[in-house]
Amino acid sequence: MKGWQKGLLLSASLFAALNASGAMNVTLDGKLTQGSLIRGQAPAEAKILFNGEPLSVAEDGRFVFGIGRDASLAHQLTIITADGKQQVLPLTFSSREYDIQRITGVAQKYVTPPADVTERIQNDNRKVSSVRKTLTAKTAIFAAPIRPAEGRISGVYGSQRVFNGEPRNPHYGLDIAAPVGAPVLAPWDGEVLLAEDLYYSGLTLIIDHGMGVTSTLLHLHAIDVKVGQHIRQGDKVAEVGATGRVTGPHLDWRINWFQERLDPQLLLAE
Ligand SMILES: [Zn+2]
Repeated sequence: MKGWQKGLLLSASLFAALNASGAMNVTLDGKLTQGSLIRGQAPAEAKILFNGEPLSVAEDGRFVFGIGRDASLAHQLTIITADGKQQVLPLTFSSREYDIQRITGVAQKYVTPPADVTERIQNDNRKVSSVRKTLTAKTAIFAAPIRPAEGRISGVYGSQRVFNGEPRNPHYGLDIAAPVGAPVLAPWDGEVLLAEDLYYSGLTLIIDHGMGVTSTLLHLHAIDVKVGQHIRQGDKVAEVGATGRVTGPHLDWRINWFQERLDPQLLLAE
């Protein structure tokens, strides 16, 4: 619960709106902006809908949702308490501006992949997308995460990427520059969903933290854990590397809520 209280970033206006409404005791933890993971607490046994879709809610009423880099800004949370009372909360998120990051010196096979790897890339994407559908009842993400590696931040979430002069997909992770072999720690408790070598992201680890939230750790030199293994926050799970589409060794840490790609830095900044 400590991390939960420490991480309370509820916007003043929203808090006021919730209090004014009187009836329901709902709190939200997280910045209402694009790329944000929002952690919420409703009365136990409440049902919660996000934009009309039911969210998974822990027994004690905690829930989570997130919006992506370019998501629309108007959203809606519906809370239905055990006694059948219903309240609709409009949520207005802020938009963000993203940097343009120009990267040169990337091996051309990662900028314009040869035709014979197309199928492999599609297969990689299918596997990643499939494990990110995982829904378990773990509540690890209600604790504050720890930074999975030490080092300078060398890339941020959302940047428009230009590789060797050619525009490509935006960047969805937090890059931490560190030497090959430096330890990579589990940001929260979890269970390993995927540990394998993928075309763009090199040696890749995906960890389930529960309620649809996963961490993805990219470009690794070595992985110390196996699929299905349970890990604790702070456990060494891998080593920093320079595998896949990189120009130097670093850890790229991503957070997803199902297929929504979220910004790890919003959870670290306190
Ligand atoms: Zn990266």
